[in-house]
Amino acid sequence: MNESGNSIFGTALHNLEMAAERVGIGAALFSKLSFPKERIELRLGPVLSNGQTANIEAYVVRHSDILGPSKGGIRMSPSVTMDEIAGLAMEMTWKTALVGVPFGGGKSGIRSNPQALSPQDKEIVMRAFVRKIRRHIGPELYIPAPDMGTTEKDMGHIRDCISYSESISITRGCFVTGKPVILGGIPGRRQATGRGVVYSIMAACQKMGRDVGTLKIAIQGLGNVGSEAALELVRLGAKVIAVAEVDGGVINENGLDIDALIAHKSTHQTLEGFKESGFIDSRDIFGIACDCLIPAASGSQITAGNADVIRAKIIAEGANAPTTPQADEILEDKGIFIIPDILCNAGGVFVSYLEYVQETQHEQMTESQVTSRLMERMTHCFNVVHDYAVAQKCSMRAASMDIALARVRDGFEARGMLP
Ligand code: NAD
Repeated sequence: MNESGNSIFGTALHNLEMAAERVGIGAALFSKLSFPKERIELRLGPVLSNGQTANIEAYVVRHSDILGPSKGGIRMSPSVTMDEIAGLAMEMTWKTALVGVPFGGGKSGIRSNPQALSPQDKEIVMRAFVRKIRRHIGPELYIPAPDMGTTEKDMGHIRDCISYSESISITRGCFVTGKPVILGGIPGRRQATGRGVVYSIMAACQKMGRDVGTLKIAIQGLGNVGSEAALELVRLGAKVIAVAEVDGGVINENGLDIDALIAHKSTHQTLEGFKESGFIDSRDIFGIACDCLIPAASGSQITAGNADVIRAKIIAEGANAPTTPQADEILEDKGIFIIPDILCNAGGVFVSYLEYVQETQHEQMTESQVTSRLMERMTHCFNVVHDYAVAQKCSMRAASMDIALARVRDGFEARGMLP
């Protein structure tokens, strides 16, 4: 729950209810989509390297498989809840439909602090998780990927754990995406979500008659999505003027040296003490005067309590569900252009689909093929949503939801009903 009392599942359900009214789906489909198809709660009891047995809650949610096997990342965080995972799984259903890949929505969570685990203990926890969910994971069931707190290294352990449990080196399907390239991963997957965010911002700039290279950017969260988006923006000539992490942020009106900032964070585990910058409280990131704000951390960060201070002209939602419904209304009244999460950060799942194709079809793709397909798909999806929003005089969020929900409805109807 965030400070204004919204849960991530509550936000996802609110978005569904609003879209269902506009799109006009039947009661049977609405009730099907209001709840996950499957919610699994697990207890992991791995023996850690100090000989102690940990007691860790974990969750797997498959929201929908109407358009294909459920797809969605594994979140590892000390505060993750079933509510959050169920909401994020529902969002994945809309995201996969909107970006046009034949997947449904899923998500999983491990309630543990990745920063507090040694690499060895993290591997032990990941393997304990995979042993427990083995029956629920598979190319035709649920295909995980990295999310907050997990990385491609963890996906490598998942692949190995499944190979080990079957005593074969698996190449007969794609059980997990976001793997290291050496293990059948796809070049450019690690950069895909951040780059996709930037391609959405470029498409927005094109509509606004602005040059992306002139933008001043503020970013919340310098993890996978935040850092890859920052690097790409700087490459295009934009200035990343402020970045916030959990324990504080840094600001430099002339633009931060992002390569050096990423290296600083990796060495010191904090942004504090970074050269040529002022230090700010982590909550101050939202009030920075900038052209574009990228929330790239956890959900429900922009609330009714802080939406008023936002001065950005564009918000590009790198994170999942960073904006509560109340905050969304405030931002819309302020005329801020929001690129919603299910559109803005869909680059990751699109490239995961390319990885799935590569593995299931025994193909190989280069990074430049991946990146050019990503740019083409993100730009196309943005334009489809924008055209719809202009025609219907609605927000980009409403347009994205309507298009995604109509596609899920069409899939549901095309499948037909069992007697
Ligand atoms: P990550 O764990 O690599 O990075 C998240 C970063 O945000 C961390 O550095 C963390 O310290 C920071 N953070 C957390 N809470 C914060 C706060 N309150 N203020 C400032 N910083 C904070 O995770 P990621 O993979 O980059 O994911 C970030 C967001 O993007 C999540 O919402 C995730 O669901 C979403 N997302 C990720 C992907 C992907 O491919 N990784 C795809 C789609 C969406």
